[in-house]
Amino acid sequence: MIERAYYGTLPTGESVDQYTLTNNSGAFMKVITFGGIVTNLVVPDMLGRMGDVVLGFDHLEAYVQDITYQGALIGRFGNRIAGATFDLEGKTWNISQNEGPNHLHGGFRPWSKKVWQAIPKETFEGPSLILSLISPDGDEGFPGQVSVTVVYTWTHANEFKLYYTATTDQPTILNLTHHAYFHLGGDAGVEDHFLQLAARKYVALTPEGMPTGELAAVSGTPLDFSTTKRIGDVLNDDYPPIANRKGLDLNWVVDQPGNTDRPQAVLYEPHTGRRMDVYTTEPGIQVYTSNFLNINGREGVYFGKHSAICLETQHFPDSPNHAAFPSTILRPGETYRQLTGYRFASGMEAGF
Ligand code: BGC
Repeated sequence: MIERAYYGTLPTGESVDQYTLTNNSGAFMKVITFGGIVTNLVVPDMLGRMGDVVLGFDHLEAYVQDITYQGALIGRFGNRIAGATFDLEGKTWNISQNEGPNHLHGGFRPWSKKVWQAIPKETFEGPSLILSLISPDGDEGFPGQVSVTVVYTWTHANEFKLYYTATTDQPTILNLTHHAYFHLGGDAGVEDHFLQLAARKYVALTPEGMPTGELAAVSGTPLDFSTTKRIGDVLNDDYPPIANRKGLDLNWVVDQPGNTDRPQAVLYEPHTGRRMDVYTTEPGIQVYTSNFLNINGREGVYFGKHSAICLETQHFPDSPNHAAFPSTILRPGETYRQLTGYRFASGMEAGF
């Protein structure tokens, strides 16, 4: 079932709607056309009790003011680009410097702050919302007019599926992701969550937070999540890649992007028995444990450091400046594609 309701009006006069996608079991997600933001994602725990597993606010104004990318679609370029500059086919491009001298998550008025066109559609798998946007040539300094479509499907099997496609009329760069802050156990924080990552390497960073170019082995370090680990046991580790970012805030290199037999990430919360499996075709997952979060969310509840976790499927940070990283270049005639799924389960079906 898909319902549409008016959500609010932006200072620009643009109207924003909220869609509720409810599957056969009664689990639902709510999405606003501003930023494609998932405002609520309500799934059962092991006793069948429904609960919201994403952070969010209760009105449009808060999403407009938000600087933490709550629940939003990130574009044109997720993560950081050092010096907000890159070379593409012999030309140097300077894009928005919205984090010190660097670029982060699309700039000053990124896709997460734009109103997307939305078309609801009931599909075989469950209710869907087709979100699309045209980003003009020169948007935040990026070359090329880009047409992007992201299909959200809330499947009857409690999976939030995102299928991204994009095309361009000039060579450009693109790195798309979604920035939901998950907390499977309610408002209690992520210390007690367990995380597993099918990733044997991570993107090593300089102390300033930019890739060194090395894809470093996690083996023998606190960054090894190849077997399940309690997040709270590593968050305050003095290992520099963790301590420098005050928690987890790194890009893990997915062993087998697109492998649908085995999730690339598993998050489990033992008190509620909720589990979330992440499948993606992307080469990287940015794991961010809300290290710098400081917001009043829904119903005024405060969310600070380590209160939620983002599992952002994407290409590696600063890819345009590292020729050895998987390419983020998109050329005319090509189609960017990404498929990512966040699959929820609880109790016996969670397998724990
Ligand atoms: C990044 C963090 C950043 C945050 C902003 C995350 O995707 O990894 O470094 O602070 O977004 O909310």
